[in-house]
Amino acid sequence: MNIPEIFAENVFNEEVMKKTLPEEVFNSLKSTLEEGVSLDLSVAQKVADAMKNWAIEKGATHYTHWFQPMTGITAEKHDSFISPTKNGKVIMEFSGKELIKGESDASSLPNGGTRATFEARGYTVWDPSSYVFVKDNTLYIPTAFCSYGGESLDKKTPLLRSSEALNKQVLRVLNALGNNEVKSVKVTVGPEQEYFLIDKEMANKREDLVFTGRTLFGAKPPKGQELDDHYYGAIKPRVKSFMEELDKELWKLGILAKTEHNEAAPAQHELAPIYTTVNIATDNNQLTMELMKKIADKHDLVCLLHEKPFKGVSGSGKHNNWSITTDTGVNLFDPGETPDDNLRFLLFISAVIKATDNYQDLLRASIASAGNDHRLGSSEAPPAIISIYLGDDLYSCLTAFEENGYKNKNKGVMKLGAKILPTLPKDTTDRNRTSPIAFTGNKFEFRMVGASDSVADCNVTLNTIVAESLSIFADKLEKSKNVNKTLHDIIVETFKEHKRILFNGNNYSEEWLNEAKARGLMNLASTPEALETLTLDKNVSLFEKHKVLSSTEISARQHIMFQNYCRIIRIEALTMIEMAKKQIYPAINEYVCKLCETIKAKKALKASYKTDAEIAKKLSEINEKIYEKVNYLEYLLSKRKTISNPKEKAFFFKNEVLECMASLRLYVDDAEKITDEKYWPFPSYTKLLFSVN
Ligand code: ADP
Ligand code: MG
Repeated sequence: MNIPEIFAENVFNEEVMKKTLPEEVFNSLKSTLEEGVSLDLSVAQKVADAMKNWAIEKGATHYTHWFQPMTGITAEKHDSFISPTKNGKVIMEFSGKELIKGESDASSLPNGGTRATFEARGYTVWDPSSYVFVKDNTLYIPTAFCSYGGESLDKKTPLLRSSEALNKQVLRVLNALGNNEVKSVKVTVGPEQEYFLIDKEMANKREDLVFTGRTLFGAKPPKGQELDDHYYGAIKPRVKSFMEELDKELWKLGILAKTEHNEAAPAQHELAPIYTTVNIATDNNQLTMELMKKIADKHDLVCLLHEKPFKGVSGSGKHNNWSITTDTGVNLFDPGETPDDNLRFLLFISAVIKATDNYQDLLRASIASAGNDHRLGSSEAPPAIISIYLGDDLYSCLTAFEENGYKNKNKGVMKLGAKILPTLPKDTTDRNRTSPIAFTGNKFEFRMVGASDSVADCNVTLNTIVAESLSIFADKLEKSKNVNKTLHDIIVETFKEHKRILFNGNNYSEEWLNEAKARGLMNLASTPEALETLTLDKNVSLFEKHKVLSSTEISARQHIMFQNYCRIIRIEALTMIEMAKKQIYPAINEYVCKLCETIKAKKALKASYKTDAEIAKKLSEINEKIYEKVNYLEYLLSKRKTISNPKEKAFFFKNEVLECMASLRLYVDDAEKITDEKYWPFPSYTKLLFSVN
């Protein structure tokens, strides 16, 4: 395989554009991309033509507007290029209009009440900042999706808006600091993706994995991840061949798949790409997840992206590495070489500190999902409490700033900066793996994101809240008569006011829960609690101020997320009921019967049957309890129909339904531990976790 040759071979990127487009068309497209100028229809026509010819050469027969509705996965509707001619034949056609805008009925996609069904039309609009590509004989056009009235109905639109908002505020700050060179900045993101690979035949025997992507029952195996022998261990042949094919397909789509290794739990792995612009990184991550599932299937494996597929072993997350880079190539979270650079660096770090403290709730809400709730705080992922790890060097540097402040009037200031920050190590080795937001040298790593989630939401939030801090800093700096002093003051004040959000210790520990409480930090333990905060006045005005989401859009999103949460748990509950009634209860009974036969036979022999009798009795009792819980779960599911308010319903699912599911599970798992495995109706944890070779 010649990697440089196949890399991006299915992507209509700048190189291809340059080759296939007339120069003036190429230039006009480029300025659209760089300056956000809108594209002329005649130019779009030429671009569409070139795209079509290129795609047909790659075997494409169809095109699709590819978008990211609020379901969290991608959506597509395929149209062929054919257009009839007078002589009863067809030609292949694709117009500029078809490239730019699509009308899509899509009335079944979630809209949170922003679209009445009588005007169910939605629009898809080409996003020229993410490249089109060919996959499965189809030309894929990344698009944004909005309602007839212009409300965004997808994850991409607010992401693009938030990047613009951040760009604007960063430029204000840089200008106020005397830097007029930088014309634009980009948010860069590298999402590390964790996943499980399970044997397909095994997985298909479990309705819970088939319907919900996680095991709803399952006793803990004798061996989990205690020995740490899987993490970074040798990759097994089946997994290796999966990874090889995955890499190849990702590379063809121009996705920078870079690092692959085994993760902490048995059967768990990770893929990390090289970072790129946030919008492209988000699209690429969606494609990565899709391809993981598809390629696993080809290898008779199932790829689980659920946040907590197995109880008792680590779940899967997505580490969202986030940074800002200027068009002149400077990473604003890089400490830099000179005192000036260092001060600017500290200012941007301060912006993140302030943003994180003021909007803990929004960050928590941005990663909230039914699946992620099982993972957060279960000693493998940070708890639901937001905090930042800066590392000891940076922390003591800020402490020194607080103590010394703005001591000298002119040159001294710079010296102070230089003295405190001789050389900040770019990569601190004592990285804190337990922190939800860790500063790792030149980027922030947001580790609370769920494995199956789109990275759009968390980046919308990061971009917007940091834009807000920067806008406050810019207001001060622009008005200031002594920029250097104001700069120092901002850093010191921010540290003083917000240092409670900084925590270098162990986030998994019991003490942190207490300490965080004493510090007054939020602990929004569940998704309903987190989602509730979306519509707080301070949060709505933030999104409105930066034109990222309108108050209607926020309410719609909140509605959709409450609904999603309830639906996921309802499907899980129904699956549990079905498995318990049709598989588990009968299986336990069968084993009890077998034991009773044994007891009878032993009685005849006058042999001791004490153990058989004990097990049979215990299992019979458990089975009664199982049915009791199933009945109660059914009752709860019928009761839910009486609750119409989505928020109330979400809390009902959390407080009542999840609770009942958990106790049903305990009984079943207890039974599994003492039932002859011949009778157990589906593969155990041991088989699921240790069978891929
Ligand atoms: P780890 O966190 O596992 O130790 P690395 O620090 O090498 O690994 O990088 C992890 C991820 O961070 C990679 O996906 C990488 O592309 C991404 N990354 C590195 N630099 C940046 C940056 N400036 N902006 C965004 N992401 C980055
Ligand atoms: Mg990492």
